[in-house]
Amino acid sequence: MALIVQKYGGTSVASAERIGAVADRVARSRAAGHQVAVVVSAMAGETDRLLGLAASLRHPPRGRELDVVLASGEQASIGLLAMALEARGCPACSYTGAQVPIRTDSSFNRARILEIDGRRIRSDLEAGRVVVVAGFQGADEEGSITTLGRGGSDTTGVALAVALQADECQIYTDVDGVYTADPRIEPNARRLDRLTFEEMLELSSLGAKVLQIRAMEFASKYRVPLRVLSSFEDGPGTMIVPEDEEEGMEQPLISGIAFNRDEAKITVHRVPDRPGVAYRLLADIAAANIEVDMIVQNAAPEHDETDFTFTVNRNDYERAREMVDPVAEELGAERVTGDPRIVKLSLVGVGMRSHAGIASRMFDALARESVNIQMISTSEIKISVVVDERYLELGVRALHEAFDLHDG
Ligand code: ASP
Ligand code: MG
Repeated sequence: MALIVQKYGGTSVASAERIGAVADRVARSRAAGHQVAVVVSAMAGETDRLLGLAASLRHPPRGRELDVVLASGEQASIGLLAMALEARGCPACSYTGAQVPIRTDSSFNRARILEIDGRRIRSDLEAGRVVVVAGFQGADEEGSITTLGRGGSDTTGVALAVALQADECQIYTDVDGVYTADPRIEPNARRLDRLTFEEMLELSSLGAKVLQIRAMEFASKYRVPLRVLSSFEDGPGTMIVPEDEEEGMEQPLISGIAFNRDEAKITVHRVPDRPGVAYRLLADIAAANIEVDMIVQNAAPEHDETDFTFTVNRNDYERAREMVDPVAEELGAERVTGDPRIVKLSLVGVGMRSHAGIASRMFDALARESVNIQMISTSEIKISVVVDERYLELGVRALHEAFDLHDG
């Protein structure tokens, strides 16, 4: 007998019929002899609907009352699922975050979980009941309802698995696992059986949005065995494991290719090459909490000048320009140019640590397709390039092919 936490996302509970299908799946796990704690999201589209309603009354919507509104989506889901389970003869009990209780700090709309008291849930499980817990929410010290930020049910699932010392945390979603690339772009993409936490973190942060990043960090820190799988079809899904557990297994060189379309690039041309320039160029941007991703600077020694390029999220592009342009002028730069139509392509794989030549193979594959590389950055387990957005599909497919990631 195992203790399993199963998390179902919004698409898995999008209708009464689908809630019934989830109940069937949960009841099967229980009938197989497992103790099951279920975490659910709001029905698909519900959080957006509530957010829209809230926005029509207070713009921008935020604060304590917004969480009272948003948390209602998950509250409906847990009651409905518990009812569906009872209708199948499976004893069940639902819990809002506050009822568990899941204690959080008081940062409304993006609260962090501080502590989960698993006692009530554990005694329910021991009494043979399935417990159904609302994702995405908790309560602060005062008892005020809080929510954890969009996609936060993943974090609830992982955190509950930690608190209950579950044998496995299963994340059910609308895809049957993590793929070598987005199958909508690369039809030959293949489901991965296993992946390390670090690789999954890179893939998530690079735009392969299967799991909330905070949930991944949590799972990795507490070493919760995590499995991503489909709520619509049976299958083994993708197991996410600590890297040391992979030792001895044959590791693929590259696990996957991720991309991020939300990037924009800004270049300050021929700015004086002297101490403090990089700091000045980015100080206001940092103060405004605009996230800077890649930074490339290359000095031309004969001119005592340098070109300084960096990327920001596309949504922040205009604001970043407004901040950089005047500073660049003050510093005596020749001009500032920008391009909001770029994408970042990345190769991810722990196998890179022990293999040379991956970068050149990557650049060769892109060159063969005449894809111009605008920026390059590397870390231990990833290589990213910035290219024009029109090369997104071509680039992903060329890399998928070059690293033999397709089936068979
Ligand atoms: N319902 C919330 C959202 O849509 C939380 C979640 O689904 O993970 O962001
Ligand atoms: Mg989600």
